[in-house]
Amino acid sequence: MPDRVLARSLANLPDQVLVAELRRLLAEQRERLAEVLLHLGELDARRLHLPAAYPSLFEYCVRELHFSEHEAWARIRAARVVRRYPGALSRLADGRLHLTAITLLAPHLRSDNARELFEAATHRSKFEIQAMLAQRFPQPEIATRVVSIRVAPAEPATVALLEPAAAAAAAANEPTEAPRLVPARVDIIGVSAVLGPEAPRTVVTPLAPERFALHCTLLEQEMADLKRAQELLGGSIPSGDAARVIGRALRLLVERLEKPLRSPAGRSEVPTPAPPATQSRHVPAEVRRRVWQRDAGQCTFVSASGRRCDSRRDLELDHAQPFARGGRTGVENLRLRCRAHNQYEAERAYGAGFMDEKRAPPP
Ligand SMILES: [Zn+2]
Repeated sequence: MPDRVLARSLANLPDQVLVAELRRLLAEQRERLAEVLLHLGELDARRLHLPAAYPSLFEYCVRELHFSEHEAWARIRAARVVRRYPGALSRLADGRLHLTAITLLAPHLRSDNARELFEAATHRSKFEIQAMLAQRFPQPEIATRVVSIRVAPAEPATVALLEPAAAAAAAANEPTEAPRLVPARVDIIGVSAVLGPEAPRTVVTPLAPERFALHCTLLEQEMADLKRAQELLGGSIPSGDAARVIGRALRLLVERLEKPLRSPAGRSEVPTPAPPATQSRHVPAEVRRRVWQRDAGQCTFVSASGRRCDSRRDLELDHAQPFARGGRTGVENLRLRCRAHNQYEAERAYGAGFMDEKRAPPP
């Protein structure tokens, strides 16, 4: 129905009918959401993101189903809860628990307390549930002070160094938790360490084009290293801007880590034959380098529809023809795979029965 038609017809609705209609729609939406979570949970159990060439269900939800990062995180978490605790599903479907309630309860649920926690959270606001959980599961107090470094205030990308307690408190005071708790680029920041209201250790928030705010907790030695680097860079970064110092340090780190993967200087113009394939599991540095270059440092898994996995982390060298079946260790037979797809292929190759069993519908 076109928006204008809908708006006009609503404008003429009596108040009670409008309210009743809204309630009816919400009830429908909750039941739909419960169904969505069931489907998502089944998809999760079958790990269908892997054949679709996504390294994680989170990536699949964001890029394939077009959820926001927070929607993806909340629904995946809730899907896992409702699979395990059917009581959560019925309460979500009839509106006693909202989605946020389930995500908040998730880390504390056990078979012996689930029912009680669901009851305690029934028809409670997010803040009320957080308070209830803080009473039942008090977090250890961290006697620290907040060290806030704010250099170059005109520069949008600044680094705030918060101790965990302060960071958690800051997160709790946020009117909306999603932007703080879920970084936009979770593919480069440790997701598991970030995705949860419990301990937002490292948070990256995009501020403007090409500008990001990074909130993180540094250990004492790391803080000392930062200070020392600021001193040593006094000549080239006179302001001592922590963001620039960290940026410089990261560039050096990336160059150093990538060095073994690049061709040695001067040798790239003279093509040399690849080292011969061997029957050893050991992968010589030169072979590793060539495979990395050929595959452009990216997982090579391609889905049936032709999508290539774009994971550039947790990459492993995989034998196209399995080593255990006589596959040789050489540039031709090796390829880059992210850990998720490497395991997925291994299960497909060796555990077909196991996978079939997992995919069979429940009796
Ligand atoms: Zn992959």
